[in-house]
Amino acid sequence: SGDKIRIKAPGHAGNASNAQLSTNPSEALVIAVTTRAIFNLEEEHQLYLEKGKEEYVRHQQANQDKPLPSGTAFAFIQAAQYVNKKILERNPAEKGLFDILVLSNNSPESGMRIINSAKHYGLGISKFCFVSDEDSTQYLKSHRVKLFLSADRTDVCNALRRGVSAALIFQQEVQAPSTPLRVAFDGDAVLFSDETDQVFREQGLEGAMQYERAMEAVPIGEGPMKAFAMHLGKIRKKFSQEESPIRTYLVTARSGRDMGIRAIKTLREWGLAIDEAFFMDGAPKGPILAQIQPHIFFDDGLHNIQGAQDVGVPSAWVPSQGMQPLQEEQTLS
Ligand SMILES: [Mg+2]
Repeated sequence: SGDKIRIKAPGHAGNASNAQLSTNPSEALVIAVTTRAIFNLEEEHQLYLEKGKEEYVRHQQANQDKPLPSGTAFAFIQAAQYVNKKILERNPAEKGLFDILVLSNNSPESGMRIINSAKHYGLGISKFCFVSDEDSTQYLKSHRVKLFLSADRTDVCNALRRGVSAALIFQQEVQAPSTPLRVAFDGDAVLFSDETDQVFREQGLEGAMQYERAMEAVPIGEGPMKAFAMHLGKIRKKFSQEESPIRTYLVTARSGRDMGIRAIKTLREWGLAIDEAFFMDGAPKGPILAQIQPHIFFDDGLHNIQGAQDVGVPSAWVPSQGMQPLQEEQTLS
């Protein structure tokens, strides 16, 4: 199984502990990103589509010492490194760190530019996996990946089907946020399951509100980002609220008055502490996201992704129900 992974970064040997980060795969929060998620490879990707692989590889080799511009998930990965630094300042022996790996369909020949770019920016990436497989998401489970960010929709859907928290990254303009690491989640169909969205689609807002009242004592089902959010919460709990290098946000279209109670109860039931929650009652999320300035915002609604992109907030789309067609659907949030 491992023989298809052709290159690993120097300093990392198989399952041995990582010299750079000394993470332990069972305790670490492993995040896998594709090259087009952390770097801006749009020109190169266009070349690949138009002129083919050979021309692409030639281009990447000719430019291997020219660092790639940063991509949409770049600031998020940098902020995760900042959190690692803060954790290690408190306890140099800590193993529960962020562990970032690059999972790429680039060949090792074209991957040199990726490695050089990561070095150039001082990104602490523990593993570079250049795999030729059509479906590279088969490696996510063996690397204990808790979050997968990709610019390829099929990749993301495959990862979600494998039960890994995953989201689609679009190339966009990003306002570089400052530390601490801030992560914002939508509620329904992201942290939570889409059960209430389904009632909303079938029975409208009144039906959804009735459903929520009837189900108030029952936690909402788990959504595709729950597992990642729980691991993030685990790292978050190492710190007091004032000194935490991580801040988490819930930004949901639910109204606080009618539909907030069950959401809050569910988070409490899970033991997931969210620093701030915004119940927007259907209002656009862009303005509040512009204030929060998260390093990443997860939502299943493309109109919310668009709203975040418009204010320069790095956003990641969580496609609901696996392979839904890439078109806007009526969703609650
Ligand atoms: Mg939603």
